[in-house]
Amino acid sequence: MPTSTYDIVILGAGSGGYACALRAAQLGLTVALVEEDKVGGTCLHRGCIPTKALLHTAEVADMARDSERYGVLASLEGVDMAKVNTYKDGVVARLYKGLQGLVKAADTVELVTGTGRLTAKDTVTVGDRELTGRTVVLATGSYAKTLPDVQIGGRIMTSDQALQLEEVPRHAIVLGGGVIGVEFASALRSFGAEVTVVEAMDRLVAMEDPAVSTTVERAYKKRGMKIRTGVKVTGTSQDDQGVRVELEGGDVLEGDLLLVAVGRGPRTEGMGYEEVGVELDRGFVTTDERLRTSVEGVRAVGDLVPGPQLAHRGFAHGIFVAEDLAGLEPAPVEDSLVPKVTYSDPEIASVGLSEQQARERWGEEVSTYEYNLGGNGKSQILGTAGFVKLVRSGPDGPVVGVHMVAPGWASRSARPSSSSAGRPCPRTSPSSCTPTPPRTRRSARPTWPSPASRCTPTADPASAKARLTRPPASSHRRLQTPATRRDNRCRNAYRCRPSVSPSPRGQ
Ligand SMILES: Cc1cc2nc3c(=O)[nH]c(=O)nc-3n(C[C@H](O)[C@H](O)[C@H](O)COP(=O)(O)OP(=O)(O)OC[C@H]3O[C@@H](n4cnc5c(N)ncnc54)[C@H](O)[C@@H]3O)c2cc1C
Repeated sequence: MPTSTYDIVILGAGSGGYACALRAAQLGLTVALVEEDKVGGTCLHRGCIPTKALLHTAEVADMARDSERYGVLASLEGVDMAKVNTYKDGVVARLYKGLQGLVKAADTVELVTGTGRLTAKDTVTVGDRELTGRTVVLATGSYAKTLPDVQIGGRIMTSDQALQLEEVPRHAIVLGGGVIGVEFASALRSFGAEVTVVEAMDRLVAMEDPAVSTTVERAYKKRGMKIRTGVKVTGTSQDDQGVRVELEGGDVLEGDLLLVAVGRGPRTEGMGYEEVGVELDRGFVTTDERLRTSVEGVRAVGDLVPGPQLAHRGFAHGIFVAEDLAGLEPAPVEDSLVPKVTYSDPEIASVGLSEQQARERWGEEVSTYEYNLGGNGKSQILGTAGFVKLVRSGPDGPVVGVHMVAPGWASRSARPSSSSAGRPCPRTSPSSCTPTPPRTRRSARPTWPSPASRCTPTADPASAKARLTRPPASSHRRLQTPATRRDNRCRNAYRCRPSVSPSPRGQ
């Protein structure tokens, strides 16, 4: 069997895998990047990007619907899903092309197409090729879970199929009130569907501060959605006419599609991980803070590492591992410093600890401040409501948590002038403009970057290539190693941009 040797072999080219590969290439390391499907993984093809495109369409529909209130005489005649899909797929295609260009331009990265398997602690086998590396990085991501007795197919779908809807459903039942569930519920409602959200926990977005959940539930009800919390599904069925969802207590819901959004499981089965001795916990790969697995020389990044399943965390993981292997001694990625944004209407953004988590750590000393956005000028202009809540570790202690909810809030909080949470994105640093913790010891102060700003691969391979060869003048001060000087060439291949524009919908 032919064997090729690299510094790093990366299994999976989603956010975690490709970020690791590109950063490693910037640092002069050789990489084999193994992907069985499309470079970009879930976020680009079935996650962040297509859902945010749908949510933008939803916002446009709401703007048209509410336009008269602002003195604009437009009207909403309907939502054409074929055209929505063309728009969404176009966005994905352009970003995909840009990302392919970036990978191609990275001289020391070989993209290996095929299904890989970890066959030894330093080897990934793809077809008849053996790829060996000083380090192997596991980055195989996650999949949409379902409930034990709920079969996916036909009218019962996960987010993967819901991204390809050919028409707006009359009544959509959304099973799961986490981030993915509430984002889809929000978009489908804006498209004109009746929406019922069923959540087994006692509130929507249960990973957020309880006050945020209350605001979201209130807003959803005001938008005409039905919310059933604290109730489990006991059975589902479907036929040509629609779906039936049976709930604990005997209630039955009828609709024409059921979206199952009950979380994402790690993609670790059947890939040789356990055979090689990689320790798993309920399928997730356990790591130390430097993302080292139980097997020497094997690291893991992204969704398969327990913690928040977010693309920018995956990026940060990938960049961290590349820098660690290059000897740059980056600071570990701390999950509590990874901001979370839910692009529903209202939008939610948070970073740090909830009040409860802070109290568990600092007790009664913890103080909170809540600012109601009702009195905020921009909120009055937009006709929106919401709040910002700050959690301090003590009366004079630092802010350890920020929780925000309001329509269009995430976008507004991205403005450089808004607060320390809205610091401008430095053009030269991909991970410091993603919501990530500090990356190197020399810049070890938490920066609380903008929760709404994200780095996306540029859609233009030609300009990406130009940036790869033209180091920005401002980038030379940070680190002075030769590796970093090489690194600076590529940093601008990512671009900061704010997320969606503010929603005009009133509450
Ligand atoms: C609907 C939805 C919306 C989302 N919205 C957001 C958002 O707004 N913001 C955000 O930050 N995050 C969002 N996410 C989460 C984000 O998509 C993930 O956190 C991110 O994609 C994880 O990256 P990853 O590299 O760990 O895994 P993935 O992106 O899943 O990549 C893993 C890659 O590995 C490949 N692979 C798997 N097994 C093998 C194998 N054996 N051989 C070769 N290749 C293999 C897969 O094909 C895939 O390309 C969303 C997710 C979903 C589903």
